[in-house]
Amino acid sequence: MKFYLSVLLLAFLLNGCARQPETGKLQVVASIAPLAYFAEKIGGTHVAVSVMVPPGGNPHSYEPLPRQMILLDKATLFIKAGSGVEFELDWMKRFLSLNHALRLCNAVEGIRLLPVKHDGEAHQHERYDPHYWLSPLNGIIIARNVKKDLISVDPVHRLEYDANCAKLEAELQLLHQEIQRKLAGLKKRRFLVFHPAWGYYADAFRLEQIAVEEEGKTLTPRQMQRVIEKAKTSRIGVVFVSPQFSTVQAETIASEIGGSTISVDPLSPDYQNNLRRATSAFIESLR
Ligand SMILES: [Zn+2]
Repeated sequence: MKFYLSVLLLAFLLNGCARQPETGKLQVVASIAPLAYFAEKIGGTHVAVSVMVPPGGNPHSYEPLPRQMILLDKATLFIKAGSGVEFELDWMKRFLSLNHALRLCNAVEGIRLLPVKHDGEAHQHERYDPHYWLSPLNGIIIARNVKKDLISVDPVHRLEYDANCAKLEAELQLLHQEIQRKLAGLKKRRFLVFHPAWGYYADAFRLEQIAVEEEGKTLTPRQMQRVIEKAKTSRIGVVFVSPQFSTVQAETIASEIGGSTISVDPLSPDYQNNLRRATSAFIESLR
């Protein structure tokens, strides 16, 4: 009896710590939540998807937990952003060494990366903005990349993956048009964000992103002052923040310009609705 109880307890603990492979399902690991969305949409009932960087976690600095490393052991496919996100640069080699059979899907393949902008101009030394998934048209390319690799590890369900992907592509095309339509009438097109995650969104919909922070560093008082002046001359009233970053400096800027902060999430697992929510927030602030 005692033994039985401890087995039960152990099973409970294991279950609480790590998602057990659901029998028969393909184990997919995505490095960030928006990519998991694509795997779930296209893989449907044939996949069990887990995410490396948890909600609120910052992919520019996240370190995986031991129990996440264990998940890799049972995974068949790993989907990476592939755009220079620090978390992947630091850990990808290690992940692949833990499971030599792990197939790697590079979600960025075929996407045109944009250079990081600094004060409206491209950096001299090439550095690319990693946040490409926040444009629905890039989402279409991500969907195709994920589909291609799902088929290669699980060709039996090819027809379903094809159909799910086609459906998702059509939705994303419509989403792009919907956002374009909603933003079309705005006269003001410049918005201020704390962390520069919305460059591809801005590029897709002809808005202009001004970023407070760069490369995850805290701003010096001098840099803060420059941002405040710029926001004032552009008559900006909102500082967009995201759940992954401290809002202390953003709040200071907001109070200096007599404005407020609004949260938009670049890493939501609810990809399409999140882009809709962010669009409403941008419209609200740019009216
Ligand atoms: Zn970021």
